[in-house]
Amino acid sequence: MDCLFCKIVSGEIPSTKVYEDDKVLAFRDIAPQAPVHVLVIPKKHISGWYDAKDESDELLAHLMRAAALVAEKEGLVEGGFRIVSNCGEDADQTVKHLHLHVLGGRKLSSEMA
Ligand code: 5GP
Ligand code: ZN
Repeated sequence: MDCLFCKIVSGEIPSTKVYEDDKVLAFRDIAPQAPVHVLVIPKKHISGWYDAKDESDELLAHLMRAAALVAEKEGLVEGGFRIVSNCGEDADQTVKHLHLHVLGGRKLSSEMA
């Protein structure tokens, strides 16, 4: 499948890994928008949150838990952090493989949209 993040999972495209287990991979965003900007993705291709409705609770919970682990590993627990996930055109989802952005390391804007 011609998917950028599937190629990162397979190692075809290199990435800076932050965390990995059998189900998920976390790596640094190539264009960071905060001092810490990590993407957390399922290794399995899921195109976005609408398709995620068909996935197991176990996998989706695991993805969220991995984001929290990344925040801890990156030293964001005390200062706080934000988890963002875009779905579809209006939200500017540019890569059609489900991903959570973990952002922190500076005071983040209070704007939601
Ligand atoms: P989206 O806009 O879909 O919510 O997020 C996609 C993210 O993937 C963007 O923040 C973008 O900087 C990041 N990205 C795009 N191409 C690459 C790449 O080749 N490597 C890495 N590490 N991040 C990428
Ligand atoms: Zn994919």
